[in-house]
Amino acid sequence: MKIGCHVSIAGGIDNSIIRAEKLGCNTMQIFSKNAATWREKILDEEEVKRFKRNLKNSSIDINSVFVHTSYLINLASPSDELYHKSINSFIEEMKRADILLSKPYLIVHPGAHMGAGEEYGIQRIIKALNYILKKSADLDLKTMILLENTAGSGTHLAYTFEQLKRMVEGVKDRKRIGICFDTCHAYAAGYNLSNKEGLEQTLGEIDRHLGLEGLKVIHINDSKYPLGSRKDRHMHIGKGYIGLNGFKELVNNKYLKDLPFILETPKFGERDDWENIDLVKSLVLNE
Ligand SMILES: [Zn+2]
Ligand SMILES: [Zn+2]
Repeated sequence: MKIGCHVSIAGGIDNSIIRAEKLGCNTMQIFSKNAATWREKILDEEEVKRFKRNLKNSSIDINSVFVHTSYLINLASPSDELYHKSINSFIEEMKRADILLSKPYLIVHPGAHMGAGEEYGIQRIIKALNYILKKSADLDLKTMILLENTAGSGTHLAYTFEQLKRMVEGVKDRKRIGICFDTCHAYAAGYNLSNKEGLEQTLGEIDRHLGLEGLKVIHINDSKYPLGSRKDRHMHIGKGYIGLNGFKELVNNKYLKDLPFILETPKFGERDDWENIDLVKSLVLNE
């Protein structure tokens, strides 16, 4: 199976590969800058070379490395200033993903309407995505954008697959848009992934609205809060409300089992990632 986790880029982006490999990952996710600031990171040429060399020499699948955007980006923002700042920052994120990876993927939470209303927010996101895709095509960037489903906390959109479908349908250049499926977010938004029936129902809904072939990666996280709580708090696998049985169904599901699974579970020490990775691997049934 393809299993990995979100790893830190502290001390240089090239260090992320070493961290991931130590943990036994064959897929991974990074931020390409400090995710809590607007400041853009200029990638140092030597750092990029080391990153690529480390990746090539590692056990990580070079086509299964994912970049997650900064949390400050809000493509639904009703403030023109923040909206344009978000769009510009997103394009910088795409450029970095393109420099780092031969098959670049960029994961984003579509946006929060901040009280302006869901319909307004969805239209705002569609407009931003169309602009970004046009601009990035002009720049010859090959990065694929992956829209992530959210827990729907606050005014965050994309907490239903129907909303995600609306966003995707609004986009003109659809071949560079895909989906990142986060299990904690889906559960908190009301999709019951704790048992087989619930998982099948959820996948049916994804298929109906988006097509399962649009799924490119799964964020495998348990949920600290109950079904439909709309709270985005990740938990260790099996220690939250989804529970081990739900994850056993997930990792063995015929539509999902070959996709990359990325953990974004709490980290107090390296041990936490090890334990979660080993646990997920142990859930896979051998045919
Ligand atoms: Zn995310
Ligand atoms: Zn996630």
